[in-house]
Amino acid sequence: MTEPRIIPITPKTAPKPAVGASPWEAKLTASPPLSLYVHYPWCVKKCPYCDFNSHAVRDEGIPEAAYIEALVADLEGALPQIWGRRVHSVFIGGGTPSLISPDGLDELLTAIRMRVQLDPLAEITLEANPGTVDSGRFKAFRQAGVNRLSVGIQSFNEGHLQALGRIHGRADAIAAAEAALTHFEAVNLDLMYALPGQSLAEAEADLATALALGPAHLSCYHLTLEPNTAFAANPPVVPDPDASADMQDHIEARLGAAGYGHYETSAFAKPNRECRHNLNYWTFGDYLGIGAGAHGKLSSHAGIVRETRPKSPAAYLAARQSGGFVQERRDITAAELPFEFMMNALRLNQGFPRRLFAERTGLPFEAAEEEGCSRPASRASSRSMATPSVRQPAAATFSTNC
Ligand code: SF4
Repeated sequence: MTEPRIIPITPKTAPKPAVGASPWEAKLTASPPLSLYVHYPWCVKKCPYCDFNSHAVRDEGIPEAAYIEALVADLEGALPQIWGRRVHSVFIGGGTPSLISPDGLDELLTAIRMRVQLDPLAEITLEANPGTVDSGRFKAFRQAGVNRLSVGIQSFNEGHLQALGRIHGRADAIAAAEAALTHFEAVNLDLMYALPGQSLAEAEADLATALALGPAHLSCYHLTLEPNTAFAANPPVVPDPDASADMQDHIEARLGAAGYGHYETSAFAKPNRECRHNLNYWTFGDYLGIGAGAHGKLSSHAGIVRETRPKSPAAYLAARQSGGFVQERRDITAAELPFEFMMNALRLNQGFPRRLFAERTGLPFEAAEEEGCSRPASRASSRSMATPSVRQPAAATFSTNC
């Protein structure tokens, strides 16, 4: 629904391999922090801009019990890969995970706690669509153990919400944000800009409404027309690049003045209120992904692997009977690691300390320099920044969520 479900960034096409074998050998000396991602693939209806693995609920409804059973079986099958490792964050994304019943969520989180070593202070996020929630549901989600809510507002403007095909209106958005802030200390609101027909004044009005609500975290995504979406087939008229750049500049200035740090391309947070789960992606940490279409990235003494699960809910449910949920598992080669690391870490506005590259890839920093994908932030700095140093559009790599 909301936030960076973004998340696992994997290249859509494999990076160009180095000519010949990589001269470097990846040798990890410690395991990266580990997160758990749980994908919930159903939505009330499909939004025309959405290219996520989300599926409109059919007449027969959501097979919630069977899906929770499959998630638990998937987790159990993956346990040998994460044995002894502490899980620092859990993110339940979608789709629309706020469609899950509170009892179902309680069962799922209990099953997770019983099977993995969950940090007592773990950040546990659930994405919520304002059209699927009320205060009682949020309260029940909090009691089940969720401690951070990410609400897919997108806009407070009725016309823009309709143009985006959202199932909620302005009043639902405000009510959901207020309920979220009543029951959760950690709340993210997702907004989108450069919407069909949107003016700078209207983007500012959305931002002002969000700021008045007072969340600790805001994610602001540039609408992108992704392939294989209804918008790609029938593109709406959207603001031109100069107009959307003006919106981006305004958002950054306005949120900066309001005390929100711009710590990632699309993410803004009050001090120390950054999303720990997403930071783990962007710092090339490990994550186990369970659920339909979930991606995982796991490190061990033998190397770093990426995994994917079957994308369609039916295929995922059937995988339980057919002997395994992992559809594809492949090693990330030493030649690919610099590109993969940089594609994530260079989303961070402050760059990253050079030692992190070696810690997370097992390669010396020279391997990244040879790939030409870093430069020092300054002569005196030990941090590295994106090269080339151009302003990135706020949704360069990520789509927005629900
Ligand atoms: S944007 Fe969110 S609510 Fe809309 S279809 Fe995609 S995942 Fe579902």
